[in-house]
Amino acid sequence: MNILQLLRCAKGHHVRSGRRARFVNGRRESVCRGCGRKMVKEDQYWRLADDGGTAQETQPAT
Ligand SMILES: [Zn+2]
Repeated sequence: MNILQLLRCAKGHHVRSGRRARFVNGRRESVCRGCGRKMVKEDQYWRLADDGGTAQETQPAT
């Protein structure tokens, strides 16, 4: 949990966790460092995944 990043999340500025990135079904997936929501990379941009799934089973390392 990153409080500063959570504030950015509240403004819509999510930041993917580099160490959590992985390939799934041919695309990159990761989670937001602040809120832990699932993110996917499309073209060159990271965005929140459509399913809005959370990754509560593994906490992001801070
Ligand atoms: Zn976030």
